[in-house]
Amino acid sequence: EDVSTDIVIVGTGGAGLSAAIEASNQGAKVIVVEKNAFMGGNTNYATGGMNAANTKYQREKGIEDSPELYYKDTMEGGHKKNDPSLLKVLTEKSADTIYWLEELGANLSQVGRSGGQSVDRIHKGPEGMPVGTHLMDVFDQQVEKMNIDVRLNTKAIEILSEGNKATGIKVQNRDGNTYNINAKAVILATGGFGANPELVTKYKPELEGFGTTNQPGATGDALAMVEKLDVALTDIKEIQTHPTVVPKINEMITEGVRGDGAILVNREGKRFINELETRDTVSKAILSQEGKTAFLIFDQQVVDTASAIKKYKDAGLLTEADSLKELGEKLKINATELENTVNTYNAYYKDQNDKEFGRRTLTVELTKPSFYGVEISPAIHHTMGGLKINTKTEVINNSGEVIEGLYAAGEVTGGVHGGNRIGGNAVTDITVFGKIAGENAASFVKE
Ligand code: ADP
Repeated sequence: EDVSTDIVIVGTGGAGLSAAIEASNQGAKVIVVEKNAFMGGNTNYATGGMNAANTKYQREKGIEDSPELYYKDTMEGGHKKNDPSLLKVLTEKSADTIYWLEELGANLSQVGRSGGQSVDRIHKGPEGMPVGTHLMDVFDQQVEKMNIDVRLNTKAIEILSEGNKATGIKVQNRDGNTYNINAKAVILATGGFGANPELVTKYKPELEGFGTTNQPGATGDALAMVEKLDVALTDIKEIQTHPTVVPKINEMITEGVRGDGAILVNREGKRFINELETRDTVSKAILSQEGKTAFLIFDQQVVDTASAIKKYKDAGLLTEADSLKELGEKLKINATELENTVNTYNAYYKDQNDKEFGRRTLTVELTKPSFYGVEISPAIHHTMGGLKINTKTEVINNSGEVIEGLYAAGEVTGGVHGGNRIGGNAVTDITVFGKIAGENAASFVKE
């Protein structure tokens, strides 16, 4: 049965729920739809933290930071392709958005360093809790407390429109029934398309065969829905991959593990690439091995030096053995060759000269039991591109006009991250722009 509301929001990740909470706070009547049976999308998997500049937590630690420095770091990391006006908003609103989240019950007071940042800027969840898990707990409680109408198992299949104006959405239940949600404003917060191989290879054919770290619902539904409104897309070919992801479990093994000494071998137990090459090159090399996967191999010394590895060990992701032979057998790869390969590598280590692949940082000799291995393959991680928005999160069409009543925030949009997303910026993106979308849609419906 058709229903009416002020604002309908599509998606219950960080962007959709930030928008829903802010719009409700502004007095708008909100309905949120989610195609999955649960909330959270890819936000559930956000681990690192949230970048923000010049927060009180940084100042307490004596860290000097500014939105300008944050802007500069992000622009550089994004290969200077980022939309300057969106990036300005992201960096300037980041600290206030941390405080806003804390008013809702979050605790983001732990500050650390992460890749691509010139100062400690990533704000983490309490007691090492993944930031996504923490924020979803907070959002969940708010949704309950504010009595926000969230409809699970409800998929948006069409944007209702009159001319250049969005007037609601058509949704479909799990049992196939459809109905309209008429609204004065629509906010798209459907996330990216990293779990849609057809779309991924349409925009980046070289990603054929890649797995994904994304939740299965990250299929880019919005891209098809906005076609009839001639919505402009930006940076749509910019797709980030990660070379070492555990297949099926989709757990990413951080690049630091190779930096700290791990090597990569194939099923024959042989090395096949300089492990410290760029993400693209290593990914490609892995995909040309039998089974399109490879194995990270390392010893106890690597585990002892790299704190990140302990996490994988505790999570049961690593195969452990007393000898290389046994490790090879457990991993079901050529164990004799594995032994030979590691012996050869250890000789390269002594000479500090990788004669086969030219790896420059030969960090440790792999001699100390236990020995460890984990099967990995490259996977799609983040889709930087998406719908074009302005700083008010209004969606823009190919003629440069605002589509009345249509807003978008989060991974569904493009421009914020340019050609490469920096770790810790996804959470900033979804919360800063999600909140802005909620704010602007609410004031639009009041007019
Ligand atoms: P963001 O990080 O931008 O908030 P997420 O991936 O965390 O994005 O969340 C997006 C949410 O939108 C996911 O829960 C996903 O299942 C949901 N979603 C995607 N497409 C649709 C759709 N057509 N209808 C309803 N929900 C959708």
